[in-house]
Amino acid sequence: MRIMDPHIHMSSRTTTDYEAMYAAGVRAVVEPAFWLGQPRTSVESFIDYFDALVGWEPFRASQFGIRHFCTIGLNPKEAGDPRLAGVLDILPRYLEKDGVVAVGELGYDSMTPQEDHAFAAQLALALAHELPALVHTPHRDKVAGTRRTLDVVSESGIAPGMVVVDHLNEVTVHEVVDSGCWMGFSIYPDTKMDPARMVAVLKDVGLDRVLVNSAADWGRSDPLTTRRTGEAMLAAGFDDDDVDRILWRNPVEFFGQSGRLDLDTTETADAAVPAEFAGNSIMRGARA
Ligand SMILES: [Zn+2]
Repeated sequence: MRIMDPHIHMSSRTTTDYEAMYAAGVRAVVEPAFWLGQPRTSVESFIDYFDALVGWEPFRASQFGIRHFCTIGLNPKEAGDPRLAGVLDILPRYLEKDGVVAVGELGYDSMTPQEDHAFAAQLALALAHELPALVHTPHRDKVAGTRRTLDVVSESGIAPGMVVVDHLNEVTVHEVVDSGCWMGFSIYPDTKMDPARMVAVLKDVGLDRVLVNSAADWGRSDPLTTRRTGEAMLAAGFDDDDVDRILWRNPVEFFGQSGRLDLDTTETADAAVPAEFAGNSIMRGARA
């Protein structure tokens, strides 16, 4: 089973996770820029964070045989903080970088006017930079939030095929299925969507424009729920080709629209992986 996890926050995860993910078949990940569990207080904190997403973390992933890409954006949780309005001004320079395959995650948290502004401004950036957009839907008030999200997407003029609307469930997916946008599902270990519920959604809406991710981060989450969903699909009668489509070809097609998805996993490419990044390695302690 080859797997691309199209939404996972590896900066919050351990080297043990990277090893387990590789063993489970994960060969590529997309790490969306998001919030850290507590608010940042200045634009400079975002500069260091974005630099790590395009620098250190791809290096760390490469040490475990995994290709790492990221999306860059001002996340919904912090989009309303006046101290961080300047983050929108630094986005363009990151959106030109090689490993950046979309703008995001962006969208609504509490649906405030400040969030409206950041959402529309970032969809405009996606259009200007010809990048896909990864759009988060709010965890509260999900149906209303998803409807309003689709309205904003449609007003922006971005092609629906360049947008993934993420964190959907059995109910909200029906708001999105006719929009032409991609449908993202985050599979959690014990709340919200789980592998069995995901299989039921696939039987309902089919395999077109569907992305399955673990959304693993610093909270209770599991970086292997992509693999578990693939296994649940096989147990329910889907075949290997269906699983490959959901866990590999679909995310490759969606993020491939950036023109920056370099998935060369040949041995020559692996041999070219450097052991250090800016003079630092992932090794600890003296080496013989
Ligand atoms: Zn996320």
